[in-house]
Amino acid sequence: MKKKLCVLMTVLVMANLNVACRKENVEIMSAPAYQVPSLYTRATVSEDEPDPPRKKEELRYLASETDAVGKTISKWPSISLSGDPDEVIEIKEDCFYEDERFFLFFQKGVKIHGDLAGHIDRIMSELEELLHMSYERDPVNSDINWRFLYFDNAFSDVNRDLGKLNILILKNPHDGRVEWAGENVAVLYEEDVFSPEYDLQAAYHEMAHALQLRQSGPFGRVLAEGIATYAEYKLAVLENRPAWDTAFFIRDERNPYPYDETRIYADPVGTYIYDTEVESGHANSEYQYGIRFVTFLVETYGEDVIDRMCRISLQFDYEESRTDMIMRVIKDATSDDVFERFAKWLPEGWKKFGEEYVEYMRQFDPTLQYKTDSKQAPV
Ligand SMILES: [Zn+2]
Repeated sequence: MKKKLCVLMTVLVMANLNVACRKENVEIMSAPAYQVPSLYTRATVSEDEPDPPRKKEELRYLASETDAVGKTISKWPSISLSGDPDEVIEIKEDCFYEDERFFLFFQKGVKIHGDLAGHIDRIMSELEELLHMSYERDPVNSDINWRFLYFDNAFSDVNRDLGKLNILILKNPHDGRVEWAGENVAVLYEEDVFSPEYDLQAAYHEMAHALQLRQSGPFGRVLAEGIATYAEYKLAVLENRPAWDTAFFIRDERNPYPYDETRIYADPVGTYIYDTEVESGHANSEYQYGIRFVTFLVETYGEDVIDRMCRISLQFDYEESRTDMIMRVIKDATSDDVFERFAKWLPEGWKKFGEEYVEYMRQFDPTLQYKTDSKQAPV
């Protein structure tokens, strides 16, 4: 069992969580610059206006060079993968693999299985179906500089228009830095895709972040972590895999987070949504609020509610404060009384979630008991 934290956009978090089976701490380190998508996203081009003439020029400029079958021509090393799950490939030098919808970038020394690309493609499809969203996106000229951070600026000629998702498979530096994702990149470690213990769990989580970010404006950490942890759990159930991570949000005696459910009952305007945005880093309560809130949203407002929030979030201008934007996105996609409804839903709704979770997980651990983490709602 391993708890994953990830980091979005503005901070890289060095994390160790004090959880049931291992010790970790949380610290904040330097921040890679995150640029809000600015060029020809749906936020800036209205649907009934034709694309600006400049767009074609920009696209031509941004496109990587390709061969007759559409594969990127690069001066950097690339590899092909056999598709064989039993084949172990040890990466001899930094290199990349190209698929239809994604690139994999490997650091020298990592080990992978021959069928990794097939798993990544499957995870993308499952996430798209679950969240009713697509990894496709309009090309933009913003990118977190992962080439600089991890590859000494190599691969500068690959995926220049950011049309495909970049997935990095790195050696774990074991310095506290954890997996993370942005709109164009999911950063994973070798053990996430190679060691059986990890079961690709981090890939589901980070690729869910990337999917949301590719189709939305900045959302805030509660919603972002809520969507990722929700997707991680739902797809584990879909594939009949154990979802150990989800236990951290249910069993309070093992829960190290300063999560306070009474805030939800006492707060009809949803302050905890943007407060945890500001507090995030050490508190990590965004995971706790997030998975409850997203589960409630999907149950109450339908499976496409996340997609609706993403589309609405693209229609913001920079005059609006972040707090106002997050609240507006949630209410426009749901209803004005969404937070009151959430408070009403929580005691029974979350209890039901916990009971169903334990029942499902007993096939992997028959000793599991449901223990409520719910403080009683005020009568
Ligand atoms: Zn995350």
